[in-house]
Amino acid sequence: MHKSMMQMPLNVSALIQHADRHHGNTEIVSRRVEGDVHRTTWRELHTRTRQLANALTTLGLEPGERVATLAWNTHRHLELYYAVGGCGKVVHTINPRLLPEQIAWMLNHSDARVLFFDANFLPLVEVVAPHCERLDHLVVMTDRTHMPSSSKLPTLACYEEMMDTASTQFDWPELDENAPCGLCYTSGTTGNPKGALYSQRSTVLHAYASALPDALCISSRDVVMPVVPMFHVNAWGLPYSAALAGAKLVLPGPALDGKSLHTLMEQECVTFSAGVPTIWQGLLHYMNTEGARFASLRRTVVGGSACPPAMIRAFDEQYGVELIHAWGMTELSPLGAVGRLKSKHLGLHKDVQRKVLEKQGHAIFGIDMKIVDEAGAELPWDGKAFGELMVRGPWVISEYFKHPSSPLRDGWFPTGDVATIDADGYMQITDRAKDLIKSGGEWISSIELENEACAHAAVSMAAVIGVPHPKWDERPVLLVVKKPGADLTREDMLDFLQGKVAKYCIPDDVIFADSLPMTATGKVHKLKLREQHSAHLTPP
Ligand code: AMP
Repeated sequence: MHKSMMQMPLNVSALIQHADRHHGNTEIVSRRVEGDVHRTTWRELHTRTRQLANALTTLGLEPGERVATLAWNTHRHLELYYAVGGCGKVVHTINPRLLPEQIAWMLNHSDARVLFFDANFLPLVEVVAPHCERLDHLVVMTDRTHMPSSSKLPTLACYEEMMDTASTQFDWPELDENAPCGLCYTSGTTGNPKGALYSQRSTVLHAYASALPDALCISSRDVVMPVVPMFHVNAWGLPYSAALAGAKLVLPGPALDGKSLHTLMEQECVTFSAGVPTIWQGLLHYMNTEGARFASLRRTVVGGSACPPAMIRAFDEQYGVELIHAWGMTELSPLGAVGRLKSKHLGLHKDVQRKVLEKQGHAIFGIDMKIVDEAGAELPWDGKAFGELMVRGPWVISEYFKHPSSPLRDGWFPTGDVATIDADGYMQITDRAKDLIKSGGEWISSIELENEACAHAAVSMAAVIGVPHPKWDERPVLLVVKKPGADLTREDMLDFLQGKVAKYCIPDDVIFADSLPMTATGKVHKLKLREQHSAHLTPP
């Protein structure tokens, strides 16, 4: 093999070293679980990360061993990302919104011996830990003053005490770039969750690609606030891309309501943020009712589920904030596509530009995409043909953690999403394959209907499900959560949809609900809705 260039493995420790050396005084601000706002810098964080790496060494962990976390977005969670990954172990982030039995299942499946958790998760850990035999180190991510005064658990270690006794001298090992550094389980609604094990290399490459101008465009002049949790696919990689770019990082901790987010954004001059549509909906509601404004926020990325066009329009027209639609998956680390305009769109009317930006976007460099029919044949990029979206790339999994069979088909990862791709390469998700509705042989996109319904001024949230029908096999039914105090009838809603979608797509019924069931990652739980309403059109 020719080796004319240096062989430097891509390691996550390089990111924190870079941030320290080149952006050492740039701040990291966290709203702590203890309630106050904590300030540090990339330099101080690097020092504490080395201390934590030393503390971890005393636990006698094997290379590649999993270190679990149940924690909000704070500086201590960030320290764990870099200390665990940097010294060749695997940070296994767990979503605390899952059921205790699911959390116990994951901890057992990942063989974690160490669990770091925020103090407010103690009641959850007390339920889970007795079911996890291998778990022998429980560390509360707080200082001595805020340690729980009593607990059902035998021994709890204190994070800050572990740090106090550890040296700040630590040389990051040079690791095989294919060694793992992170583990995140999918939020599948059926069956056991499956683990995506990220490597040092995939994590660094994902950070590079997602920081690019036509991706998330993160620079050292940005103030980045990941509202998306660090337990949801590594906060979409932002803790890594912010270090790579040297951006200021603002971590919102557990306070994710509109008021808390807005206050922190204004105090810290946040320019860029990221989260799922339900988060932005809560923020919009707060902004509208309070008549508040954004002084510094310029762009925010939205993904995890389809972003209603009405939300993109509201952020742009009312607040001058660019809502960037992005698509990704746990299995893709997660970023796959981002909706940004090309130069050919710049002179076009705003409404035409919006149509482009409503799509899930363009594959970012490193991700290769195609759509295929049921036989696996590639479909044209004409914006009309729809089929299963297949992806490949250096930050796409090739296998699930400890799973016997490979999910790949001919070297491509089948996403389970159904999409179109237009001649310019913009991908649009029609539906999750299992959410598509088949009525009398015609396919109906639930996302298209939801997007149209959300444009009604009285609608706060909308979900469309396919419900069994004696004649058509399945018909769409629309569930609507009205805005507080809004007046809306079934007939108003159906009239509103007339002419906006094909006649056969108009839902057979509208059900008004106070709220919709959500999954642990903030998506509408369609499986549950289908179960609840399965007899809606065919009463016994
Ligand atoms: P997760 O692994 O929990 O992040 O879920 C990944 C799935 O979320 C994808 O396969 C899509 O079905 C869905 N998803 C993510 N982003 C979007 C988006 N922008 N529009 C529609 N669906 C999305």
